[in-house]
Amino acid sequence: MSAPKEKSKSVACLGIWALHDYNFGMHHTQMQQCPDCKAWLPAVEGATHRYVGASPACWAMFSALVNAGEPPLAPHPLTGLLLDAYMAQHPGQPSPQAIQSVAVHLLALYGVLEAGVAPEQALWIRLRAVRGAAADRHARFAWLTPPDFSGSLTLADIVAGATPQARTERAIAYIQAVWQLWASLHRRTIADWYGRWVADVDR
Ligand SMILES: [Zn+2]
Repeated sequence: MSAPKEKSKSVACLGIWALHDYNFGMHHTQMQQCPDCKAWLPAVEGATHRYVGASPACWAMFSALVNAGEPPLAPHPLTGLLLDAYMAQHPGQPSPQAIQSVAVHLLALYGVLEAGVAPEQALWIRLRAVRGAAADRHARFAWLTPPDFSGSLTLADIVAGATPQARTERAIAYIQAVWQLWASLHRRTIADWYGRWVADVDR
């Protein structure tokens, strides 16, 4: 008895889907906003980082650009700070790992952009910031309320640049913009951490 009903139901569904396709045409790719940098990117299934707050599409873009060099950037001493700026722009939720990650990357940005450390020494800053036992490291830093990144440059803006030179110019602007947003709220705290945990060579 139920067979005809099932048939008419599935026909009705097909009608709705046909209408859906007609109305939305090329535009029915689902978009998803990255919770941290606020970039709107196509919704994709994919890996995200355990404590970095990025959407899957944003994280995939980061992996391609920073880990695989796609699309390529023109060489510039500051492009090594893309890692730090991206991590600082994607703080995620408060946890011991997130607190340490954000702190380390903010210290690298502070050291190079404000304290005069050579860009190629950014790794040295990151390593000094996390010296010692885990318990010591976790007592060192605290969660800082992140700035609002709405309307700021994102990795999507860098990737959209037409040439390696254009992308590098945007990358430098991005690094400086992320740092300035953090610095406007927390420069004093970050400078204090830097003095205690990075610059103090006697420790
Ligand atoms: Zn993002």
